[in-house]
Amino acid sequence: MKRQDVIVVGAGSAGCVTARRCAELGLHTLLLDRKPKNEVGQKVCGDEISKSHFEATGINIPSDNEISSVIDGADVYPPNLMNELKVRDWSDFDGWTVDRLAFGQRLLNEAIKAGVKFLPNIHVAEPTLIGDQVTGVHYRDLSTREETTAKSKLVIDASGFAAVIRNKLDSPLIEKNIDKSDVALCYREILTLKVPLAEPQVARVFLGGKIAPQGYAWIFPKGVKEVNAGVGITGGSGKGSPKSYFETFKASYPLLFKSTTIDGKGGAVPVRRPLKSLVGNGVAFVGDAALQVNPIHGGGIGAGIRAGVILGEVAREAIARRDLTAKGLWTYNTRYLPDFGNRLASLEIFRRLLQGVNDEDLDFGFEKRLLEAEDLMSANRGEGLSLGIADKMKRVRRGAGRISLLLKLQKATSLMKKISKEYTAYPSDPSGLDTWERHVLNIIEDANFE
Ligand SMILES: Cc1cc2nc3c(=O)[nH]c(=O)nc-3n(C[C@H](O)[C@H](O)[C@H](O)COP(=O)(O)OP(=O)(O)OC[C@H]3O[C@@H](n4cnc5c(N)ncnc54)[C@H](O)[C@@H]3O)c2cc1C
Repeated sequence: MKRQDVIVVGAGSAGCVTARRCAELGLHTLLLDRKPKNEVGQKVCGDEISKSHFEATGINIPSDNEISSVIDGADVYPPNLMNELKVRDWSDFDGWTVDRLAFGQRLLNEAIKAGVKFLPNIHVAEPTLIGDQVTGVHYRDLSTREETTAKSKLVIDASGFAAVIRNKLDSPLIEKNIDKSDVALCYREILTLKVPLAEPQVARVFLGGKIAPQGYAWIFPKGVKEVNAGVGITGGSGKGSPKSYFETFKASYPLLFKSTTIDGKGGAVPVRRPLKSLVGNGVAFVGDAALQVNPIHGGGIGAGIRAGVILGEVAREAIARRDLTAKGLWTYNTRYLPDFGNRLASLEIFRRLLQGVNDEDLDFGFEKRLLEAEDLMSANRGEGLSLGIADKMKRVRRGAGRISLLLKLQKATSLMKKISKEYTAYPSDPSGLDTWERHVLNIIEDANFE
């Protein structure tokens, strides 16, 4: 096979958008996936995506059969299911639950239309290397069992949580081992309800150690009588599997009583800041393979497609300059990490705060409104928890008796600011990475709220 400009491994949302952008910019782009073509897009997911990601990237919004439900609000419940936070009228939250297969098929077809060459039923085994420069991939065709090596100037690992290329590379720039406490193990079912939803445009989120240790349970509408409901728990925590927590939740939450299961499956998603470097020599990472996921809710479709658009542009520039070293690809880091990556890093601190608060304190915090819907939205936008002095005083009065909880909130606010400052000052080339990483790890180590 002729040497490609770019090989993208994985045709999930991040891979399709990246490949499409590469092809639109004139690069010969090969997209490989182990699935048959008509299954590309199928994915165990909560299926929810905010409109803001489409506005930021210019990618067409979901339409027609891609849309399961329009979502314009969320109810966030503490463990005792009382005093829930009602998030309404926040435009950056508005979006949809999508039919994952229809949405994924559209992204694939848009990539093919832009000129991407797509090969289905391809299992990519490993990268090929000359020294420490990635030069292509080695793969097996699952239909013919034939093994092939394909060469390219740049390999993009978009293989999702499996990170099949990243996991086979040894380089000080590339993080291989992800701590299990930074991975959410999930189980979700698509359910037909016995009773129609009263508010079919409102997502529900449930916090608490008994429902979902170090994670949360969700019910996202997919129509008036259909929902996507599941549980995500952070790896290593809890005594049971995500499925067992889900069974308990389903048996105790009246809305789900006597529902019929259409589909039930498990999955995993990283829930920490993105990789310290999204590039190596001859290689770049995007989507879950780059840990580009919102750490508080595990939403990664938006974070990955935002990165894909940037990566396509950086690939084009690097190939034009004929510099496919990590240094030559570094602008992907400097465009993504101080911007959207900054937001994700600050949300990792927020996730750690939520995980460090016990059920009783969570109930108290919700009852006394120590956290408002506005805080959640502002944290989600990457603006931290901006507690003004007057605001602080009001909350101190409301939180009297739980000073430790207020102190945790204040510590999280300060660490979110600190980490944001580090991300804004992300190094302009690889030489500054070690020092920067040390600063970031110090902040993360400090973000212990137990
Ligand atoms: C239970 C659950 C609920 C979630 N809910 C939401 C949500 O509501 N909203 C949201 O935004 N995000 C959600 N996420 C996260 C979201 O699904 C992911 O962040 C997103 O799908 C990642 O896209 P991706 O393209 O990086 O990877 P993927 O979608 O995983 O795509 C990777 C592709 O690579 C292919 N591949 C893998 N290995 C190989 C190989 N060796 N050779 C060839 N091809 C290979 C796969 O077949 C796949 O097509 C959820 C995740 C889980 C597990």
